Amino acid sequence: MPQFTPTGSHMRALVKTAPGVGMDLVDRPVPSIGDHDVLIKVHHAGVCGTDLHIWEWDAWAAGRLRPPVVIGHEFAGEVVDLGADARRDGLLAIGDVVTAEGHIICGHCLPCRTGHGHLCVRTQIIGVDRDGAFADYISMPASNVMGLDGIPTDIGAIMDPVGNAVHTVLEGGEVPGSTVLIIGCGPIGCFAVGVAKAAGAALVIASDFNPVRRELATMMGADHTFDPASDDVVARVREVTGGIGVDLVCEMSGHPAGHAQAFAAARPGARVNLLGTPSRTTEVDFARDIIFKGLTLYGVTGRKMYSTWIQMRRLLASGRFDPAPVVTHRFPLDRIADAIGVIKDGSAGKVILEIAT
Ligand SMILES: [Zn+2]
Ligand SMILES: [Zn+2]
Repeated sequence: MPQFTPTGSHMRALVKTAPGVGMDLVDRPVPSIGDHDVLIKVHHAGVCGTDLHIWEWDAWAAGRLRPPVVIGHEFAGEVVDLGADARRDGLLAIGDVVTAEGHIICGHCLPCRTGHGHLCVRTQIIGVDRDGAFADYISMPASNVMGLDGIPTDIGAIMDPVGNAVHTVLEGGEVPGSTVLIIGCGPIGCFAVGVAKAAGAALVIASDFNPVRRELATMMGADHTFDPASDDVVARVREVTGGIGVDLVCEMSGHPAGHAQAFAAARPGARVNLLGTPSRTTEVDFARDIIFKGLTLYGVTGRKMYSTWIQMRRLLASGRFDPAPVVTHRFPLDRIADAIGVIKDGSAGKVILEIAT
C-alpha cells in the first residue's frame, strides 16, 4: 500500500473507491468547509463492525454506500479551521480538542422537531453516506462537534460506541440498585458493563461465546460472565437473582438466541433495551414472553442528541467509568487490513487507528 505524507492542501484518506472488498489509502484534497462547518485534524479514530461490513462489501454495504467515500465514523481530533458562521458563534475555536456525533440530522422532520433527533428520517452518517474520519482531516457541522473537556483523543475517538452503551444502559433510568444482564460482549457490550457499574447497578451479568470478550467484561466489572455454549444462561441468571430474573436486559448480540434469552431472563415487569441488530427476522412469542410478562421494550438507535453525549462526557470526566481496558489494539492508518483482521477473527476488543503522529 502506498505511503502518503499530508502536505499543503492534500491528505491521506482510506477510501472505498469502488464496489468490492477492501479500502484504498489514497491522496485526497483536504475537505472544504461551509459557513457552519469546522475542519478537524483527526488524531484517533475507532474501527467498528460497520467498517468490517463496508470492508467486506456485504449486502447492506452494497445497498447503502455510493463510492467513492472516505470511511470511518468514530474519531477525535483538533479544530484547525472554522467557517464564517461557526467562527462568529464563538462556541468553538482553533485548537479545541473535540469529538463529534457522526449522525448528521436535518433539524426539520417530526422526530428532529420533537426532541428525537437520533431518529431523524434524513440522517446522514459520516463514513457511510458522506466522507468520514479515516483521513487526516474531516469537515463536520459545528453543531455536531463536542469539546472533550480534557478527555484524551484516544478515548474521545470511541465516544460513538461508548455512547451506544450509555444510551442502552441508562434508558429507563432505574439502574441504581438494579440487576442487569448484558447479552453480547463486543466492545459496546463491554462498555455497557462498565456504565452499568458506574451508574450503581447492584449486579451485572454478561454473556458471550468468546472467552476474550468475557475476560474484557470481567475487567470492566461484570460480577458473573456466562458462556452460552456451556451455560444455560437463563437458568444461571435466575440462580443469581433469587429465581426471578433481572430488572434490565441490554441485548447487544442481535442474534435470535440472544433475543430469546433476553425475554426469558427478564423478570416480570422488566425492561429490555435492544441495540444488537439482527440480520433477519426472528420469531418471538409475544403473549408468553412480552405481554404477560409486562415487559417494556426499547429500540436503541445511536445516541440521543445530545443528552447521551452530555451524560457520557460527565461519566468519563468523573473517572467513575473508564473504557480504556476494552481498547486492545492500535494501528496506523496504513494498517487498516490488520485492524479489520483482528476484528474479524474475534481476538480484539475495541480497535483504534492512530492517525496524527
Ligand atoms: Zn461504529
Ligand atoms: Zn430530521
